[in-house]
Amino acid sequence: MIERDYLIVGAGTAGFSACEGIRQHDKKGSITMVGNELHAPYERPALSKAFLQKSHPHPHEFCYHAADWFVKHKVDLRLGTFITQFNIERHLAVLGTGQTIHFDRAVLATGSRALRPQVAGYDLGNIIYLRTMADALALREMTPLEDGVTIVGGGLLAAEVAASLTLTKRKVTMLSRDVALWQHLVDPVTAEWLTTYFKAKGVTMHLRDDVSGFEGKTIVKNIQTKNGGRHTVSLVIVAIGSEMNLGLVRNTPLATPKGSPVNEYLETEEKGIYSVGDIALFPDKIYGGVRRETHWEHAKQSGLVAGGNITGRKRTKYEYLPHYSSKLFDLEFEFVGDFQLPPVRVVTEGAREKRSFVLKYMSGDKLRAAVLCNRKPAEVEAVKKHIRGDYTGK
Ligand SMILES: Cc1cc2nc3c(=O)[nH]c(=O)nc-3n(C[C@H](O)[C@H](O)[C@H](O)COP(=O)(O)OP(=O)(O)OC[C@H]3O[C@@H](n4cnc5c(N)ncnc54)[C@H](O)[C@@H]3O)c2cc1C
Repeated sequence: MIERDYLIVGAGTAGFSACEGIRQHDKKGSITMVGNELHAPYERPALSKAFLQKSHPHPHEFCYHAADWFVKHKVDLRLGTFITQFNIERHLAVLGTGQTIHFDRAVLATGSRALRPQVAGYDLGNIIYLRTMADALALREMTPLEDGVTIVGGGLLAAEVAASLTLTKRKVTMLSRDVALWQHLVDPVTAEWLTTYFKAKGVTMHLRDDVSGFEGKTIVKNIQTKNGGRHTVSLVIVAIGSEMNLGLVRNTPLATPKGSPVNEYLETEEKGIYSVGDIALFPDKIYGGVRRETHWEHAKQSGLVAGGNITGRKRTKYEYLPHYSSKLFDLEFEFVGDFQLPPVRVVTEGAREKRSFVLKYMSGDKLRAAVLCNRKPAEVEAVKKHIRGDYTGK
């Protein structure tokens, strides 16, 4: 039996940040971080952007630190290893290797996996669900072998992958059930403008149609659609969303359909066990209620805060104003605020045609969220301040 002060389950951004947070306040406590991926913690957002756009990307370029960082900071990092059992009462975790860790305190940072459509043929060869470095490496190897790429989905990730592959001169087709790209994120006029922008860049669009099945004997050859269409394909990327990895704690109060509930310190109802990143369902100190966010900045911040708190030498309440970025061709977007409600009243500043604008999503008199396209960082900060002022009075 291995004895540890801290166990971190999952070696993504949130797990890694928790590790950093612990080491900022406790230099000596023993830490084991276990992750089932093969690569040291890396910047996942790059997988749909810089990684795909580079001619010879190497995984190491995207890792937060080389292996010696973990040695230097006395972190026992176990990669390529699943935790298969997590016993909350006994504070025990069983690894896929058969070893058992008895921990004093733990951070759950198991993140998400790509959503698979429940249709025939979803697991055929040449269908990629882009989530991990291994998926991105497979994509890098396979795209040059095939005639073109078909991307299923019309949201953030699907659009980023389509833009990145188009920039590398791949023939890209998008298939989405929505009427326009980013339909659930921006107002209809902007969504239509963006879709036209993609078409002008050479992306073929099949909209208002959904996959009803994938055909092929060993690898995918056709996509059948609900409208009765049949598209010949050679390589497919499915980007239709993600779902939480909460299987380890299923049927416990640490897993609900909405996330892993935590208090304002990111601690679950089990003392000494924290949840961070994509899985955490945390009290929202800005908009009220509870919130779950599946973005990088939250993974980083929540990991750092929980890492500090778990040492007992720090007690920080988690307050997070959602903020994430996206890049499509020469359009750099910043999303600030709450996008969980559809945009009803949107005030537009600037001009889409000039590729520089701000969409302000209003809730009554309050600024609830904003999308900034090709604007200066100072404007992002001003929007954050405005939203905070409107919702917290601070
Ligand atoms: C291609 C792509 C592009 C993205 N782009 C952006 C972006 O531009 N901006 C943005 O804000 N967000 C982006 N995101 C989302 C962002 O990457 C996630 O919100 C963030 O990675 C969540 O971090 P996490 O550590 O909570 O979870 P994850 O990154 O999912 O890491 C969790 C890790 O735990 C491992 N794990 C799970 N269960 C176990 C187990 N039982 N044993 C061992 N290991 C386990 C998982 O395999 C994984 O390695 C993107 C996501 C993807 C996939």
